[in-house]
Amino acid sequence: MTVFRYLPGRIMALTRRRPSPRVVIIGAGFGGLAAAVALRRRGFDDLTIIERADGVGGTWRRNIYPGAACDIQSHLYSFSFAPNRAWSRTYAYQPEILDYLESVADDFDLRRHLMLNTGVHSMGWNAQASHWDVHLTNGETVVADVVVSAVGLFGSVRYPDIDGLADFSGTLMHTAQWDATVDLTGKRVAVIGTGASGVQVVPELADVAGELTVFQRTPPWMVPKEDRSYSADELTRYRRLPWASWLQRWRLWKLQHDNTALTPDHPRMAVVEEMSRKFLHKHVADDRLRDALTPRYPFRCKRVLLGEKYYTALQRDHVNLVTDPIARVTDSEIVTDDGTVVEVDAIVAATGFETSSYLSGLDVVGVDGESLHQRWGCDPQAYLGTAVSGFPNFFMLYGPNTNQGANSIIYILEAGARLVASAVSRIARRGGFVDVRPDVERCFNEQISADLAQTIWTRCDSYYRSPSGRIVTQWPHSELDYARATWRVRSRDWVHSGPA
Ligand SMILES: Cc1cc2nc3c(=O)[nH]c(=O)nc-3n(C[C@H](O)[C@H](O)[C@H](O)COP(=O)(O)OP(=O)(O)OC[C@H]3O[C@@H](n4cnc5c(N)ncnc54)[C@H](O)[C@@H]3O)c2cc1C
Repeated sequence: MTVFRYLPGRIMALTRRRPSPRVVIIGAGFGGLAAAVALRRRGFDDLTIIERADGVGGTWRRNIYPGAACDIQSHLYSFSFAPNRAWSRTYAYQPEILDYLESVADDFDLRRHLMLNTGVHSMGWNAQASHWDVHLTNGETVVADVVVSAVGLFGSVRYPDIDGLADFSGTLMHTAQWDATVDLTGKRVAVIGTGASGVQVVPELADVAGELTVFQRTPPWMVPKEDRSYSADELTRYRRLPWASWLQRWRLWKLQHDNTALTPDHPRMAVVEEMSRKFLHKHVADDRLRDALTPRYPFRCKRVLLGEKYYTALQRDHVNLVTDPIARVTDSEIVTDDGTVVEVDAIVAATGFETSSYLSGLDVVGVDGESLHQRWGCDPQAYLGTAVSGFPNFFMLYGPNTNQGANSIIYILEAGARLVASAVSRIARRGGFVDVRPDVERCFNEQISADLAQTIWTRCDSYYRSPSGRIVTQWPHSELDYARATWRVRSRDWVHSGPA
């Protein structure tokens, strides 16, 4: 697949190269690729993208469980600078998204920057030389003037904390660690968890499993999904008329944008909640099942999920929904609090990720030898999710409080990448290093906390919170507000120090 580039992509190719700070980007998912393209478009070429996997793609290389797909339409869940007019369906499945990211790496000539199969385990600011020493898992150290972390939010899997799980003798797989060689045909399978991955994998497993038991702690709010292949006519139109795919992208963006109701009293909130209730009513006939699937927390407090396939699967004869909490797992059974025993051959943990442990497995040591993890404790915070004072020339994409409530995260990643490119331009121009002002960072986070307190996310428990209870993943405004705030580096927010 070739990604159709529009003008800015070509501008990148034509841009004169200029003296480049040495930039290390950690991670080659959407974020890392966005950062590389933003920097290349500004003429910076001394880039090394360090990726511990054996290829690009991040989330979309790792998550290969059956049914894995995006839940933002593909024309929007893709880069603005690399529109793909050949998306085969409204919501692409994982293989097509991975293909897309591979094409971006090819079309934007990013492969020559890649250092694959290599992890970064720590990095330290070298105050004498004003650079970062980036320590790799292969024992080498790379020197960088600027480091951009694009390690994502969904990299550390979370298994459920259930007595006896480790002693289970059958197959145990997390959705994000799927083993495609395991054949579940005809097997008695349990799925634990009914979040985004759970509702995608359940319909697929229902097609192959002999018995499928779904263990639910909290039901998701669900809304309709226009999930379909594009017709031949549509594909021809997108191929022949570039503006048609742009119009579609804009239409989708506007729809998501207008739906970004984040406060409980927003008039739109009641409307969408009612739509979701009707959707459940329409697709689940049985009163008891419908009751079990009715959320008892406010709409949008947790991630809202899409499509009726999950509801349909739960009503198949060999599929059961269990809502009683799991008490323990034995070598071949799952036992619930009320004494129900379910014999299983395989357990699929659709239990998500350690979303609040930002930069997990990566020790970042800034000026005065301070560790970023020590600074954060269990409360990661950053200025615009990108920078922390005392950690000069270090930037994060998809950092604390940048996850979007309703729109495509790719938009946020591109905005963050633009800010990084703006900062690197400044560093290239003036030399030295930039560090966000501590007072600016503090004020920003006080304001974010105050704004978060108004949002719907405070009304329930979710993966948006850290163990302290603070909402650490979410951006409490629209994606447009984030793009405006990150448009460029504002001088007054940063300290720019000269070279050592
Ligand atoms: C199943 C699933 C579906 C999703 N669907 C959507 C959706 O529809 N819409 C949406 O907006 N978002 C969705 N998301 C969120 C998704 O993660 C983001 O949209 C996006 O893929 C994040 O890209 P990223 O580059 O920031 O992170 P990632 O894709 O996670 O990439 C990070 C990369 O960094 C590498 N890395 C991490 N640590 C190190 C290290 N120490 N050294 C070297 N390399 C390292 C990883 O190997 C990985 O390749 C989904 C997430 C999942 C899990």
